[in-house]
Amino acid sequence: MRMTGGCLCGGLRYVIEGAPSFAGYCCCADCRKASGSGFVGFMGVDAGRVRFSGEARAFASPAAGGRVAVRNFCPVCGGLVYGGTIGVDGFHTVYAGSLDDAAGFRPTMAIFLRDKPEWVVLPEGLVLFDTMPA
Ligand SMILES: [Zn+2]
Repeated sequence: MRMTGGCLCGGLRYVIEGAPSFAGYCCCADCRKASGSGFVGFMGVDAGRVRFSGEARAFASPAAGGRVAVRNFCPVCGGLVYGGTIGVDGFHTVYAGSLDDAAGFRPTMAIFLRDKPEWVVLPEGLVLFDTMPA
């Protein structure tokens, strides 16, 4: 199985080999602001199984548990594509909205329900977390 995707203009692209380790919705206020939407669909992928190409710009912000969240976007079109720093993090989040075939996204969880606006309605059957899973 292989999944491909990228930003709106196509300048920043990726290929994922195999299925993501997990997938869900993040409803945190930072993802809302970063995306301009009510949530971000994310997929967790081992760094060794995803290859990025093209230029990215990163924006880092404080995140839960004293971590720093790094969100990478295309400097031309602004499309959000992935989280984490290449060569530093062993794991990346890839934003599901950037998939070429959006049907490949199979969410099983939703995190940061505490920040979810009422106008975001989640599908049934997800495992729900008020903040981050342990
Ligand atoms: Zn772009």
